[in-house]
Amino acid sequence: MEILTTSNGSVGAGLGPSGKATSETWQQMMKTAIRTVPELLDYLKLSRHSTFGAAASAKFPVFAPLPYLQRIRPENPADPLLRQVLPINAEDQSPPHFSIDPLGEDAATLQPGLLQKYHGRLLVVATGACAIHCRYCFRRHFPYSDGPGGGALREQLAAALAKDETLDEVILSGGDPLTLVDEALSSLVDTIEAAAHIKRLRIHTRLPIVIPQRVTQSLVERLSSSRLQKVIVVHSNHANEIDNDVISSLQRLDTSGTQMLNQSVLLKGVNDSADALVDLSQRLLDAGVLPYYLHQLDPVIGAAHFEVPIEHGRQLIAAIRARLPGYAVPRYVQEIAGQPNKTILG
Ligand SMILES: *Cc1c(COP(=O)(O)O)cnc(C)c1O
Ligand code: SF4
Repeated sequence: MEILTTSNGSVGAGLGPSGKATSETWQQMMKTAIRTVPELLDYLKLSRHSTFGAAASAKFPVFAPLPYLQRIRPENPADPLLRQVLPINAEDQSPPHFSIDPLGEDAATLQPGLLQKYHGRLLVVATGACAIHCRYCFRRHFPYSDGPGGGALREQLAAALAKDETLDEVILSGGDPLTLVDEALSSLVDTIEAAAHIKRLRIHTRLPIVIPQRVTQSLVERLSSSRLQKVIVVHSNHANEIDNDVISSLQRLDTSGTQMLNQSVLLKGVNDSADALVDLSQRLLDAGVLPYYLHQLDPVIGAAHFEVPIEHGRQLIAAIRARLPGYAVPRYVQEIAGQPNKTILG
């Protein structure tokens, strides 16, 4: 995982969630993100504590933009959003079954930057950059620097699509593909549109949740004008992440004719209660987003303190099923290396 350091002034002023111009662009918000534990603690008026600041965080540093931090209640070390971004010493202790590549992505790599695990769907690691560093991330050790970017990636993608007529969907992932500026993203979409057998474009992104100003007018227009069917899978784990600015941005993506879905990770101390999961689903529905997956934590080194036992996860799903419409209950899944699909747990 690398921190985005590039910026492209040519994108112009960002649009606020209401569609009005805001003074700060999303790229500026990336630049002013908080990048160290002491800064994070100071910003949230938390006292320095010996359990904060894991040694492991040197390799996977803090990265949290202010629009996200503004949704955290100051002076509350147990805040469910804070827990996702603050390194704690428990990261330095991993049980033996936790590994660097828990999903066998190395084996599924066609070539650096292109992954195929599942029939018909090719996943593109469009960039290594993210708009936030989530402490539980299963790709926190991913060898992003091996992959090409820009024109080289587009050439390899075009060749891979031409070679395999069984593919009908391309998934832009990362990192977070929306850290690419609109022009770069648009060029990638051009490459995908040029392959006649590809029907669907899917984008896996946390950016509309983290910095809602990322949903620019030019992004909405590029999606609207595509011949492809569009699916955006955002990533939110807690209702507090979805404030009114986020709701407006998600609704604006909806107007581009894009199917909006959400995936979450089941995380101890963040969303491991029926109330938290019900609130999250309700909030997503308010934004026009359907809950898609609730992932069992992938056993990646550094994330063991987030693990919720599968049996408890199953009980939570049963409890929320009794309180929500069927379409608002996410599929509880686990990714098991080498399987032809994600495994449904409950
Ligand atoms: C999760 C994943 C997909 C998408 O799987 P769906 O079940 O279709 O959402 C595709 N490729 C890879 C490599 C994945 O990890
Ligand atoms: S979970 Fe997603 S947004 Fe968070 S660090 Fe990992 S790839 Fe980036």
